[in-house]
Amino acid sequence: MSVPKSDFDRRKQISVRGIAEVESVTSIKKTFNQHLHFTLVKDRNVATPRDYYFALAHTVRDHLVGRWIRTQQYYYELDPKRVYYLSLEYYMGRSLQNTMINLGIQAACDEALYQLGLDIEELQDLEDDAGLGNGGLGRLAACFLDSMATLGLASCGYGIRYEYGIFDQKIKDGEQVEEPDDWLRFGNPWEKARPEYMLPVNFYGRVEKGDQGRAKWVDTQVVFAMPYDNPVPGYMNNTVNTLRLWSAKSPHDFNLKFFNSGDYIQAVLDRNQAENISRVLYPNDNFFSGKELRLKQEYFMVAASLQDLIRRFKSHKFGSRDQVRTSFDTFPDKVALQLNDTHPSLAIPELMRVLVDIEGLPWEQAWAITVRTCAYTNHTVLPEALERWHTATLQHLLPRHLEIIFEINYRHLQEVQKKWPGDVDRMRRMSLVEEEGEKRINMAFLSIVGAHAVNGVAALHSELLKTTIFKDFYEMWPERFQNKTNGITPRRWLLLCNPSLADIITDKIGDGWVRNLWELAKLKPLADDQQFLRRLMQIKMENKMKLALYIKEKYGVTVNPASMFDIQVKRIHEYKRQLLNCLHIITLYNRLKRNPNAAFTPRTIMVGGKAAPGYHTAKQIIKLINAVGRVVNNDPIIGDRLKVIFLENYRVTLAEKIIPAADLSEQISLAGTEASGTGNMKFQLNGSLTIGTLDGANVEMREEMGAENFFLFGMTVEEVNKVAPTYNPYHYYERNPELKMAVDQIRNGFFSPSRPETFHDIADILLKYDRFLVLADYDEYIKCQDQVGKVYMDQMAWAKMSLMNIATSGKFSTDRTITEYANEIWGVEPSNIRLPAPHEPLFAPLVAKTPGLKEDVARPTAVQSGMQNGGAGDRKA
Ligand SMILES: *Cc1c(COP(=O)(O)O)cnc(C)c1O
Repeated sequence: MSVPKSDFDRRKQISVRGIAEVESVTSIKKTFNQHLHFTLVKDRNVATPRDYYFALAHTVRDHLVGRWIRTQQYYYELDPKRVYYLSLEYYMGRSLQNTMINLGIQAACDEALYQLGLDIEELQDLEDDAGLGNGGLGRLAACFLDSMATLGLASCGYGIRYEYGIFDQKIKDGEQVEEPDDWLRFGNPWEKARPEYMLPVNFYGRVEKGDQGRAKWVDTQVVFAMPYDNPVPGYMNNTVNTLRLWSAKSPHDFNLKFFNSGDYIQAVLDRNQAENISRVLYPNDNFFSGKELRLKQEYFMVAASLQDLIRRFKSHKFGSRDQVRTSFDTFPDKVALQLNDTHPSLAIPELMRVLVDIEGLPWEQAWAITVRTCAYTNHTVLPEALERWHTATLQHLLPRHLEIIFEINYRHLQEVQKKWPGDVDRMRRMSLVEEEGEKRINMAFLSIVGAHAVNGVAALHSELLKTTIFKDFYEMWPERFQNKTNGITPRRWLLLCNPSLADIITDKIGDGWVRNLWELAKLKPLADDQQFLRRLMQIKMENKMKLALYIKEKYGVTVNPASMFDIQVKRIHEYKRQLLNCLHIITLYNRLKRNPNAAFTPRTIMVGGKAAPGYHTAKQIIKLINAVGRVVNNDPIIGDRLKVIFLENYRVTLAEKIIPAADLSEQISLAGTEASGTGNMKFQLNGSLTIGTLDGANVEMREEMGAENFFLFGMTVEEVNKVAPTYNPYHYYERNPELKMAVDQIRNGFFSPSRPETFHDIADILLKYDRFLVLADYDEYIKCQDQVGKVYMDQMAWAKMSLMNIATSGKFSTDRTITEYANEIWGVEPSNIRLPAPHEPLFAPLVAKTPGLKEDVARPTAVQSGMQNGGAGDRKA
């Protein structure tokens, strides 16, 4: 939507956009015109909106460069312990507005573009999302980067520069169709390729035993990893950290054997094979598919990143000149590796391989270093999501790593045997090698054995790890197990996406909440301030009207902005129970049809999310929601009292549009299945009320806000465990006429009259195979929704609850999460330092602020400070 803002509108948004100084506006206009001319080679007669977007992006990028170089130089000089976040996914979304906000130049850019006669929002909409993630896990990594930079941590993210991110979802005839996400088509103005730091990664080959039995991995195929650096600006602290993403490059002599045999063309074509490694993100959320290419991606990322950070460790600067660290004893004091799920868990055998085979360390010493360096975050207890690689696949692709894993397992089982002599069953349970059927390596077990810290992502989930899937390991190493409740960055998820709400908050309590979200608690006294509550509802209404306009433009459906916007957006998965939501929709429809004149709270129910392309049931769920929507939305009896919208192509940018407009947030997973959830937190921060189960972080959200501000329903984990073994869906189906009617309609083709058998599978799942006990929670869910409907009718009561939701969301900032990781896992202290701006003298202001730092850190003698903080990267890469 490109509703040009009036001059007045733009100027009044001071807190969000900073203050537009005449000087900076003038310089931004000048730089913008220079980029249009020199970078894009266009003049204003022929420039397209996309040219203007790129000219603006380059202008903003210019403001990053000095700070980026300065930050890395600062880390290099100070040589703090560095935190490396390893993740196969970074769901970054767009960069332009986030960069302007974090640099404090949004108001100036706004004003400059306005003076140039351009609509900045229209240009922002031309940026493709960096969709290098599937859902919550990838978005968490992106929020973590923002917080690590804002807290001034010497950290760096490592990942893969997928040429194609998460697919674009199109809905055709009510069904999901996937299209490739060609996000780099027009170029990426934010990244900087670093071909000079390219590194080799080996695959295949075999293991030879060399001198003194030292293993040698030989006859390998080499692929190069080319780094692309992406800036990660902290919020208003002149810190810019790095996200280094690797892209696969064929070595010069790839497939030389074909070349020699005369097939020159084939040899050149085959170069693509090697480069396929970084071609595309696997689109599975919470599902392990076991494909060799995926294993290649995982090892590719790990091997390149470890070489890179070991090089950085060795070549640090101390004394009067650059020297090389020769001992690895201090490695865990200088390096922390955080594994985002088991996807990068090959870091453990790879670090062992480097230390033992290449650096020549004894196994025991290498193992102590590895364990002290690595930490592992678990994201799910669903068995189908746990990575268990076939030993045959590992043997073929990474023979030396498989040997190392066997050796780790041998020594591990000796420890188990020592602790529980003769407990053969426990040995079998705790083995990293699963022997039933085809042999597999349990990567979660490998990660626990090879890490000093293991954490779950919400309190409930962390407890479940200790009592269920990792029980044996908890009994062995109770001190390793921790909880780190997830969070979200308040910069993107409030300041950026909901500027009007951000402004009224800042009006009341100042802007300290942006860096310290706990300060939102200062809003609590306003729960009885009628004027403030009305203002809150007014902003919600404005956001809803904007979303209604988008829905009208995109789907041609007119929705009533006064109706309750009831929203469930997340990946489509059986455990998230979109089907439960769907049964509620059908129930409401049937009630309206039966009794058109009864009191009814109007609702616009929106569901959005992608299904993994190979997940048949998830795709059927999308089809069902669309089919139900077609019936409901076109029924004249219903009018605008009930509308069902399937939101196409849910992604970070769409989340930013939808969440500020939500009245009700649906967080209805079966208790014990959603590890944390982060969508739930985004809604709370934006003043939506939640209907939810006691699952994941819902539990802690409800604790923070108080039970009276949360719509709770459904079985607890304990109740699920009681019901599940003898779950009989017919029991519920036969006792509840509304439920029976809804399931029957799905089965008999009521929503698919032209092909009545379309949803047989769905009905069968609900009545026969449902692992997620949808029907068991139906009755309570419907009753709870009825209560939601009643409360919504009392707008002031609703507004008060909404305010209490916002005021108690302080805990769910990733600034809090990252501070806990830093203190309790990484052993580093967030510095919260504000680096000097590029125009300020080099490090002079730091001298005063940095304890133990007596001279300008630019001088080599002053580096021996005890500071364990800073950011990432260095001037040697
Ligand atoms: C936050 C977010 C998620 C995670 O949502 P959950 O409800 O926690 O599963 C998924 N996708 C996108 C685009 C997000 O922004």
